[in-house]
Amino acid sequence: MVEGFCVKCKKKVEMIDPKQVELKNKRQAIKGTCPTCKSTVYRIGKL
Ligand SMILES: [Zn+2]
Repeated sequence: MVEGFCVKCKKKVEMIDPKQVELKNKRQAIKGTCPTCKSTVYRIGKL
């Protein structure tokens, strides 16, 4: 389970379908979907 902060819900949520992505500054991040509002949730770090 991967948690991220949803800016729409203003709370931590459990991401749906988390994926490892690389940001422009070469940092690793995890991108997923908020289960409540379906917006994109990011978290810095690795899976
Ligand atoms: Zn949300």
